[in-house]
Amino acid sequence: MIDVAIIGCGPVGAMAANLLGRQGLSVVVLEKETEHYPLPRAVHLDHEMMRLFQSAGVIDRVLPDMVATDGHLHVGADHGVIRYMGTVGKPKPFGWSNDYFFYQPEFETHLRDALAENGDIKLLLGAEFSSLEQHDSHVRVRYFLNDTKMHLERTEMHLDARWVIAADGSRSPVRKALNVKLDDLDFEEPWLVVDAEVEGPVTFPPISGVPADADLQRLSVMMCDPSRPATVVPGRRNHRRWEFMLLPGEDDAVMMQSDNVAALVGAWMKDVPHKIVRAATYRFHGLVAEKWQVGRVFLAGDAAHQTPPFFGQGMCHGLRDVANLAWKMAAIVNDGADEAILGTYQPERDPHVRGVIGAAVAAGRYICELDPGKAAARDAAIREQAAQKAGETAADLIPAISTGFVAPGTSGAGARFVQPILSDGRKLDDLTGQGWRLFVAEPRPREGGGLSPVSTFVASDLPDGGAVAAWLDAHGAEAVLVRPDHYVFGTGNAADLIVVRDMLLKNKQEIAA
Ligand SMILES: Cc1cc2nc3c(=O)[nH]c(=O)nc-3n(C[C@H](O)[C@H](O)[C@H](O)COP(=O)(O)OP(=O)(O)OC[C@H]3O[C@@H](n4cnc5c(N)ncnc54)[C@H](O)[C@@H]3O)c2cc1C
Repeated sequence: MIDVAIIGCGPVGAMAANLLGRQGLSVVVLEKETEHYPLPRAVHLDHEMMRLFQSAGVIDRVLPDMVATDGHLHVGADHGVIRYMGTVGKPKPFGWSNDYFFYQPEFETHLRDALAENGDIKLLLGAEFSSLEQHDSHVRVRYFLNDTKMHLERTEMHLDARWVIAADGSRSPVRKALNVKLDDLDFEEPWLVVDAEVEGPVTFPPISGVPADADLQRLSVMMCDPSRPATVVPGRRNHRRWEFMLLPGEDDAVMMQSDNVAALVGAWMKDVPHKIVRAATYRFHGLVAEKWQVGRVFLAGDAAHQTPPFFGQGMCHGLRDVANLAWKMAAIVNDGADEAILGTYQPERDPHVRGVIGAAVAAGRYICELDPGKAAARDAAIREQAAQKAGETAADLIPAISTGFVAPGTSGAGARFVQPILSDGRKLDDLTGQGWRLFVAEPRPREGGGLSPVSTFVASDLPDGGAVAAWLDAHGAEAVLVRPDHYVFGTGNAADLIVVRDMLLKNKQEIAA
């Protein structure tokens, strides 16, 4: 029996395998296709993903193909700026820029290439999940092996795993097999997505009110123009992404025809040579699974939730899901933690995901406004709020974990912990490792061993320019305990934090509370 079977080797499944394999768990990934999806869907990710790539040991592979950019700009019906979430000149508390653009097929290749270096991970291509049976100690997963190269018949096989992670995408056959329903967050709009290789800058229409520090070529620009809402997004190297809302009565197939696509993109490229790589229509919607865990099976990524991509967070949610599962599964296998800790997966992830999808749906509602009068009123209302939102970045949209495996009621619990850059140019996690970390203000010996290993650091000894000490100070804390997925477990007395954590690891919440 293996530890974890992962169904689906998209970005979420591949990342899960890397994180789990690296921590010594045995993993088999079943992927029905023989090649990964060749066209980009996601183009943006944020600093938290870069930190997870550090944890998964894939950062050196993915970094050269990531392009740091400067945030988001929303432009109103009158072509004046209504909302600016720029990052130029802002601090980078997590050690990375807030926004990166990338090319998904290239990125997925890097994740798959890393599997061979990350432990006991077997990737079975052409292996299509068909059904599962849950038992007390394991799940039996049945799948068909499609060996198209050898022209063999489909053969039904099975494997037994302690847990299953279903990362099999929005249509998730596993979710359907488990009969899990989706909550519909009541947003559905049709958009045409176009990717192009370009040999020069995009020509924007005149836009008023562009902040002095903003470079339109480095921003994700949302044109909230009721005549045709559209997004223009920079990509890595010469890749550019446009997303155009389809207007009432427009037909998907007609809009995907090359002359229509050429006309839409051509308006932005004027005399700049460019080549359309693909055009496809999507229904942008907000959906969240009612249950993320059924017995020993966990839904993750698009199988568990789908979001309109207005803040580029769909895949990011999925990577957070598997980072959350991976450290808990590793604590059970490696340190003898109680399996019940996996019950904190949905309570932690579901509200987090709903919070961010809620922000994307709210933005989607105003972006997709087609009535010129209502669009003008919207612009006025958003501009009125602009003062109170001055300085916001997309990072502010990501909430803290509010419940689950955290020390409740302690300052900073559930927030993402900072990752300062060190005096030698490395980042904090490169020095401390990525497991449980305890940062203390004063060098006092800690009592007790602890169930899962904890690395302890005295803030004043860190070559971080005083960043961790300042964090502790700002939270009035003598110590902070940080989880392996970089969220703060809690703050307070160091020994007490370890005791409370160990009680949660042993599923003794009533004592921890
Ligand atoms: C237009 C658009 C723009 C987007 N932009 C962004 C963005 O900028 N940033 C962002 O973070 N997200 C973005 N997203 C969302 C992002 O693309 C998805 O969230 C992400 O690709 C989902 O990854 P996944 O691994 O969960 O699923 P998928 O990538 O769909 O992978 C699922 C895998 O499961 C496999 N599979 C399916 N059925 C079976 C089976 N029976 N047996 C075995 N394998 C199976 C599939 O072949 C596939 O390889 C965007 C999405 C769209 C459509």
